[in-house]
Amino acid sequence: MPAKLIVNGLYAIPIGPVNAFLLVSPDGCTLIDTGVPGSANTILQAVRDLGKSARDVRHIILTHAHPDHIGSAAVLKKATGAETYIHPLDAPIAMGSTGFRPMKPAPGLINGLVFRLLMRSIPTVEGTPIDHQVQDGEVLPIAGGLTAIHVPGHCAGQLAFLWAQHGGVLFAADTCSNMLHLGWTIAYEDLAEGQRSLSKLGQLDFQVACFGHGKAILPDANVQFRKKWGEEVV
Ligand SMILES: [Zn+2]
Ligand SMILES: [Zn+2]
Repeated sequence: MPAKLIVNGLYAIPIGPVNAFLLVSPDGCTLIDTGVPGSANTILQAVRDLGKSARDVRHIILTHAHPDHIGSAAVLKKATGAETYIHPLDAPIAMGSTGFRPMKPAPGLINGLVFRLLMRSIPTVEGTPIDHQVQDGEVLPIAGGLTAIHVPGHCAGQLAFLWAQHGGVLFAADTCSNMLHLGWTIAYEDLAEGQRSLSKLGQLDFQVACFGHGKAILPDANVQFRKKWGEEVV
């Protein structure tokens, strides 16, 4: 499936139910997440369709170490020579491909059903070297600046990123999802912590929100976050 333009310089690459994202800027291309294992060809074809080559991909940012996000990181790092980035808490999982932490389904019947289905078929992931362990608040000098925000709950090493372009673009990763509507992602290690992270994200200025699962929201995406997770406490 070809890449979908979200805003100038930003494309979604849908891989089944999960999204990878490609930032195209004068300093090269940046891939955010890598899909499930076996997604490398789909992603590289999307890169070529945009008139870029594998070697134009300079950075691979992993929002967290779940198999549907780090699944093709090892193959893509070898194919592109890109530098890899992840939060320190998830780095050992991405490097060793073991140590996945237990999760519980989010509230709702559908989340429970989908969670049980997914847990039955966790794919084997090849570990990948990590070049940069990214801390909360760090601004990566990529595409004009990507600010990392540590947002645990779904995953202890979950990072969201704020791209200060187009009125603010938030990469919310799996802190929440937008499958049928903006809501919980399917499962959390700690739901209350996930709620606090979502309230924190709602305080930021952004017009566009991109998700690991579901369609991007624009404009006024932060208004929707505030409405949904404002001051509420689980
Ligand atoms: Zn996840
Ligand atoms: Zn995911």
